[in-house]
Amino acid sequence: MAFASDRRSLFKLAAAGATGLAMPQIMVRAAAAQVPMPDVADPGFSRLTLGAFEVTTILDGGRPGEGPHPIFGENQSADDVAALLAEENLPADRFVNSFTPVLVNTGSDLVLFDTGLGEGARENGLGRLASRIEASGYRPQDVTVVVITHMHGDHVGGLMEGEDAAFENARYVTGQAEYDFWTSPDRMSGPTENAAQTVQAKVVPLADKMTFLDDGGEVVPGIAAMAAFGHTPGHMIYRLESEGRQLFVLADTANHYIASLRRPDWHVRFDMDKEAAAATRTRVFDMLAADRLPFVGYHMPFPAVGFVEKLDVGYRWIPNTYHLSL
Ligand SMILES: [Zn+2]
Repeated sequence: MAFASDRRSLFKLAAAGATGLAMPQIMVRAAAAQVPMPDVADPGFSRLTLGAFEVTTILDGGRPGEGPHPIFGENQSADDVAALLAEENLPADRFVNSFTPVLVNTGSDLVLFDTGLGEGARENGLGRLASRIEASGYRPQDVTVVVITHMHGDHVGGLMEGEDAAFENARYVTGQAEYDFWTSPDRMSGPTENAAQTVQAKVVPLADKMTFLDDGGEVVPGIAAMAAFGHTPGHMIYRLESEGRQLFVLADTANHYIASLRRPDWHVRFDMDKEAAAATRTRVFDMLAADRLPFVGYHMPFPAVGFVEKLDVGYRWIPNTYHLSL
C-alpha cells in the first residue's frame, strides 16, 4: 500500500515538473537537490611529490567484469575466494579491473611507465591515457622516455595511434628478456599468438628507438630496473629514488589488492609462470613491507599508490592518504 501511495505522489510531482515524460524518481531528486550535476569530467589523474620528482598516476580506465575467481585463485575453490572477498565487503562474482600508467617528471626527463589499452579500447571508455596526460598539464609529445614493464596488451596498447607513435618525441626502454621472448617466431602460434601479434603491431615498429635493460639497468638517473619475472618471462619493476625518498613502480607483480596481496601464493590466470610469479610477489612485498616503502601497482585501486603490511599469511594493502605529503 505504501508503494501505491508513493507512486501516486511521485507522479504528481512529475506532473508538476517541466515535463511529464521524465522519470518520476529523477524529477524528485532534482527538485529536492536544487543543484545541477556539473558537466566536468573526472580528472582521472593524481599527483604526488617524491623528493625532486613529481609523480602522476593516470587512470587509463576501469573495466567491470566477471570474477575475481577463477582469474584470481585459479587453483582454489570459488567458495574460498568468495569468503576472502566477503571479509572486505567485495562481491564474489563481479570486479573492476583498472589500468594506471605512471608519469614521472624528474626535472630533466618526463618518463611514462606503460601506455594503457590504447585506441582499440576507447569505445568502451578505456584508452584515456593521452587525453588525461593533457588534463594533467602535459602533452604526449612532452614525454621523453616510455618504459614498458612487460608486453601484455593493456601495457603496450597505447604505444601507437594508427600508424604513428603516440609519444612522438620519446625513446623507449624495456627488458631485454621481455623483448626477446615476445618477438621470437615461436610466439606466433599457440596460446601466445594474440599477444605476440599485438607486440608486432605496437612494439616492433618502435624497436629502432628502443634500449634494453637487464636487472639493475638505469633508465635515467634515479630510476633503475629490477627483474621481477613470472607474470611474464621478462617482467620488470622500477625503483625511483630522489633526495632519499623511494617509490616502486610494480606493474603487474600483484593484480588484485585483496586476492593477490592477502594470498600471494594463489595462482593467477594472467601469470604465465604461476610459481615464479608467486615467488616474486613474496620477495618484492617482503622487501617493501620491511622498509615500509610505497609503490604504484598498475591494477591497484586508483590512484593506485600504497604500502603493504606483512601479516601471518600474505599482506594488507594500505592506500596512500597523506603518507607521502609529509
Ligand atoms: Zn596488466
